Amino acid sequence: MYCDKCKAKMVEMGRSYHKQRKWICPRCRRVRMQRQRTKPKNR
Ligand SMILES: [Zn+2]
Repeated sequence: MYCDKCKAKMVEMGRSYHKQRKWICPRCRRVRMQRQRTKPKNR
């Protein structure tokens, strides 16, 4: 995952937050959330 602003590679933070992955940019310190991939439920 790359930062939108400076295109730097973001670092994943240790703990997930609300089932979302937390990524932080080492350059601009921008925090970004990413939804964890879940399998779609088919029924
Ligand atoms: Zn950035």
